Amino acid sequence: MNYQQQLDQFLLQVQKPGRYVGGEQNSVIKDREKVDVRFAFCFPDTYEVGMSHLGMKILYGLLNQIDWCWCERVFAPWMDMEELMRKHQVKLYGLESFDPLTEFDIIGFTLQYELSFTNILNMLDLGGVPVLAKDRPGLEHLVVCGGPCTCNPEPLVDFVDLFMLGEGEEQLPQVVELYRQAKQEGWSKEAYLEKACHIPGVYVPSLYEVDYWEDGRVKEIRAIKGAPEKVTKAIIQDMSKTYYPETFVVPYIDTVHDRAILELMRGCIRGCRFCQAGFLYRPLREKDASVLCEQAHSLCDTTGYEEISLSSLSSSDYSGISELLDDLIDYTSDNKINLSLPSLRIDNFSGELLEKVKRVRKTGLTFAPEAGSQRLRNVINKNITEDDVFASCKVAFEGGYSSFKLYFMLGLPTETLEDCEAIIDLAQRIIDFYYQMPNRPNGRGVNVTISVATFVPKPFTPFQWFGQDTLDTIV
Ligand code: SF4
Repeated sequence: MNYQQQLDQFLLQVQKPGRYVGGEQNSVIKDREKVDVRFAFCFPDTYEVGMSHLGMKILYGLLNQIDWCWCERVFAPWMDMEELMRKHQVKLYGLESFDPLTEFDIIGFTLQYELSFTNILNMLDLGGVPVLAKDRPGLEHLVVCGGPCTCNPEPLVDFVDLFMLGEGEEQLPQVVELYRQAKQEGWSKEAYLEKACHIPGVYVPSLYEVDYWEDGRVKEIRAIKGAPEKVTKAIIQDMSKTYYPETFVVPYIDTVHDRAILELMRGCIRGCRFCQAGFLYRPLREKDASVLCEQAHSLCDTTGYEEISLSSLSSSDYSGISELLDDLIDYTSDNKINLSLPSLRIDNFSGELLEKVKRVRKTGLTFAPEAGSQRLRNVINKNITEDDVFASCKVAFEGGYSSFKLYFMLGLPTETLEDCEAIIDLAQRIIDFYYQMPNRPNGRGVNVTISVATFVPKPFTPFQWFGQDTLDTIV
């Protein structure tokens, strides 16, 4: 019985077998004998989560454009599948070739959130790859990591050979190209890493010596063997000219987001002090509206998707939003495609934008004031005033909306009980404001939903050294 037949046996015993079968529309199959470098793009979460991730779609397409490189997708199996795989000694595999992780040259993980770190170790172990970097002395099975959590890579340095800080579109092909040269010329792993550390944004932990104070704080960091003293994140300069896939792999099963995604811009013009994405993705870089429209057509034509989502940190700050929506609304309504527009900021929500949004979205609106009181909004640099909130509510109510979702955070630095109570107070005053409007629709009530998350201090934000509230305090 071959590997794939063995896997087939499991599929009737697990939930959602579609997670494990590959073969989706637009997945890339190459001849393993004709490629020089095999790259396992591992998402340390389930298929449904990983297949929704835009970064994976971009880098999968980018690497597979290179004819000597084959990039495959690998996801963390759910517990039922893992149990069977371990019981029958079936290794974690790439969804395109069904080859186990041990067959890949480079094993790359994307670090999207810290809670997935343990899945990385589990996936390596399940793939038969030694978990500790020191137990992988050869060039094969090089473990690399990219994604936002590489800004704080130290928890993973014992396991990972190389981190890529910043944006991967130019950096990752350089890492892979150098690997190809190293493999063809028979370099050692050390020789490869000593060269790779000069690629912009690459951090090789084995090339740095760290001393600690007794309390665990870092005392001194020394770069060795010619590694750069400081690693500076890689940044794409021109979003309109940067690679973007013409198509996406279309999953067979429901995933968290299963639709065409247009990336309007990277970065955010705001500076909310809790927001890691706002700091990590600086500076703001927009993509031309005309390029976005072309990409929308291509993605829908090649996937059959009937929904396009506009993605960015704060879509209503995109300077070409009006022009883009005009073009996209015509295209989507002619082709019976839904257009979804997340991430709206309350303070720049104009009547004109609302009119356009209304044409595509009839459901409620979502805003994120983040703190209930003006004092705390000032502390976190969320430059939204009460006047902004009520001006936007007025525009939305007059435009026929009567359902709002408001996002807040608890446990922000300097927060008092009054700040928490101000969340309830603000929501109540929005409700009262609606009922005081003379021209509100007869018989229709208003629906204001409050969503509250707890503040988590993040590296590279001004609040990085503030502690997190305990469970007792929050409850
Ligand atoms: S507007 Fe949103 S994305 Fe931008 S800095 Fe504030 S929280 Fe972050």
